[in-house]
Formats: sequence, C-alpha cells, structure tokens
Amino acid sequence: MSHHLDEADCSEALHRVFEYLDGEMGSDDSAKIAAHLAHCAACLQQYDLDTMVKALVKRSCPPESAPTHLRAMIVQRITTIEVRYSD
Ligand SMILES: [Zn+2]
Repeated sequence: MSHHLDEADCSEALHRVFEYLDGEMGSDDSAKIAAHLAHCAACLQQYDLDTMVKALVKRSCPPESAPTHLRAMIVQRITTIEVRYSD
C-alpha cells in the first residue's frame, strides 16, 4: 500500500482520536485521521476502544450508574487488545 503525503502518523491519529470522535475537527484533518484508521489496525483498535469508552461516559450520568455489563465489556476488550499486542 502506498503512503499519502498528508496522511496522519500513529501518534497524531492517537492524540486526535477523541477530537475526531467529537466531530471537532475540520474536514481536512478528519479525512486524514479517517485515512489513517482505514489501514492501521493498531490505531483502529484504539479508536474502537475510545468509541466504547465515550459511549459509556455519555450513558453514565452520574458515572456511578454505568451499567455493569458495559463496564465488563470494556475491561474484556482491553484485555483482548493487550493479548493481541503481546503476540
Ligand atoms: Zn496508526
């Protein structure tokens, strides 16, 4: 796969994933992150995880009311990613 000149690198993608999720980015930057996520499995996993955490935070107001099963799902997901990374 060829590299695009304006493609975000991993550190930029990971730093800006929350901005991207929040839709706070301009369309150019947002396209950069999207392009990076499209072919970088490591960043895509982080993006998936952040999406889940964000969904949990949104649903849990106050935080103590976060559904136990959703919290367990996130913990399980983190564990899965750690196992894959150490492979
Ligand atoms: Zn990456």
